[in-house]
Amino acid sequence: MSREYRQCRRCVLDTSAVDITFDTEGNCSYCSEFLRRFRRDGRPIDQGPALDELIDRIKREHRRKRYDCVVGVSGGVDSSWVLVRAVELGLRPLAVHMDNGWDSELAQNNIANLIRGLGVDLYTHVIEWGHYRDLMRAFIDADVLDIELLYDNAMLKVNFEQAARFGVRTFLTGSNQATEGILMPTGWNWMKFDRRNIKAIAQSSGVRLQPTFPAIGVAHLGYFRLLRRITAVPILDFGDYDKESSIRHLETHFGYKRYPYKHYESIFTRFYQGVILPRKFGIDKRRLHLSNLVVTGQLSRDEAVVELEGSPMGSSRLEEIEFDYVIKKLGYSRTEFEDYLARPGRDHADFRSEKWITDSLKRGRALARRSA
Ligand SMILES: [Zn+2]
Repeated sequence: MSREYRQCRRCVLDTSAVDITFDTEGNCSYCSEFLRRFRRDGRPIDQGPALDELIDRIKREHRRKRYDCVVGVSGGVDSSWVLVRAVELGLRPLAVHMDNGWDSELAQNNIANLIRGLGVDLYTHVIEWGHYRDLMRAFIDADVLDIELLYDNAMLKVNFEQAARFGVRTFLTGSNQATEGILMPTGWNWMKFDRRNIKAIAQSSGVRLQPTFPAIGVAHLGYFRLLRRITAVPILDFGDYDKESSIRHLETHFGYKRYPYKHYESIFTRFYQGVILPRKFGIDKRRLHLSNLVVTGQLSRDEAVVELEGSPMGSSRLEEIEFDYVIKKLGYSRTEFEDYLARPGRDHADFRSEKWITDSLKRGRALARRSA
């Protein structure tokens, strides 16, 4: 299906988002939906409890516990800032990191400096590399889009497990409206609690998902949320989250070194977003991140357009180096990998999945809202 190329006049999303539509002014459905949910200044309309109320409750609930909350840290700006905020607000966080073998050296240093500077405890979960590589190869050989499902899913499980282990009910997340409030376009990722999908894709390459791999399904999620009463709190949505000033604070106080682009703390994530997504799937995730910054007034649209003109990998020299590193680590030859990049993608829904469960829950909630 070919469609005339079109780009939003307000943000920089375009027809690579397959279900994008445009109004008579040329503004797209994605940024319009975001702005309907948010005030002009980019702050949530429905903020829920005030920040001090929330922090008091968290402290009260965890008075007899060793920690007040769990914070997943990747070494990226958002999660680093969550950890700093938690300490500033007087909470005692347990920082949790998952090492899947792809941390950049910069990320490792950033995490170490931050943990030392803040004086908090860090739990690192190291994934067995041989098995992780087999799973990644299965995803690549199956031509499915969301290879990052492996990391995201396991990271969620590790965070919930650590919270449950210490009787902690609060899991602070770096997800935030200021830099990622525009919904992920349909087809740009897959449902993150889909253990069954991971298992089925692995099986398609003859790989058995090992019990030691921390994969989370919808039932586990229900257990952690309903029985262990663990809730995720997007702490950065309380107050104005300004990414640039947060980076400057991290640089000044914690020796933080910035990354050339969002999520570039992991070598594979950088390669995935810089090479695999654009070349195999025609998706440039920078469009979404930059659009968020534009509609929340953190960047001008012209600046975003200029930024998009550059290569998603930063430079072709860097792309060359990383390409060789990544395919060697995964065990592919250049021809095999070029062949993979040229092949069409395949839908996650072609494999067994739990997405229908979350889809029907969502439909049920929407129905209940309408009849209320
Ligand atoms: Zn738009």
